[in-house]
Amino acid sequence: MSIHRKSKFEINLMKQAGNIVAMVHAAMKEAVKEGVTTKELDDLAYKIIKANKAEPTFLGYNGFPATICASLNEKVVHGFPSHETVLKNGDIISIDIGATYKGFVGDSAWTYPVGEISEEKQMLLKATEEALFAGLEHMRTNDKLENVSGAIEDVAKKYNLGIVRQYGGHGVGREMHEDPFVFNYRTNNPLVLQKGMTIAIEPMLNLGCDDVILLDDNWSVVTKDKKASAHFEHTVNVTDDGPEILTKLL
Ligand code: MG
Ligand code: MG
Repeated sequence: MSIHRKSKFEINLMKQAGNIVAMVHAAMKEAVKEGVTTKELDDLAYKIIKANKAEPTFLGYNGFPATICASLNEKVVHGFPSHETVLKNGDIISIDIGATYKGFVGDSAWTYPVGEISEEKQMLLKATEEALFAGLEHMRTNDKLENVSGAIEDVAKKYNLGIVRQYGGHGVGREMHEDPFVFNYRTNNPLVLQKGMTIAIEPMLNLGCDDVILLDDNWSVVTKDKKASAHFEHTVNVTDDGPEILTKLL
């Protein structure tokens, strides 16, 4: 495993990439409404990223066909935007966005409610967001990656939610996926966090069981029991003073 710790200069570029990702999320939050297609959301995200002189990181990544991942309800991650997918009242939609600016990547996902959602889905969104912030709170010098994973696991257990096991967080920087991999549950990982480690923390929690299935398109991941799943992600830098979220508005 080789972890690339970023310099101050590199962190500044990552903040700019993250700012663009945050701008797209702000636009998504406004645009997510009953009757909108996920392709329309994708086109909007593409335009904002390009207008800010960045590149959509996901587009073409291992052949991925779009700017955003748009994963509805039981879809966990990597859903394709489509003209046919129309948002309905009561849906939840996970939108994952990556932007590359001057060679550095920002990566952030959020799950949005469409109109009025059930109490169960409200709890899922609240809990998964809480898990993200509980995990990233440990992104400080000399804390352990294991504590990031453990804090996420504890929140999932508190709300009795399933934890997606096959996917997780990751180092991020010049590449979208760098070392280390970050499980969303404890694995006895001995890694001690050091200043300048930039990591995407991304709990994926389910209303039902842990198990997920990869669909025939070889991208879309759905829960095995078809119950809803949520995904919240920030790119975060480790500092001596605690977590520095890079995917936020500057
Ligand atoms: Mg992501
Ligand atoms: Mg990620």
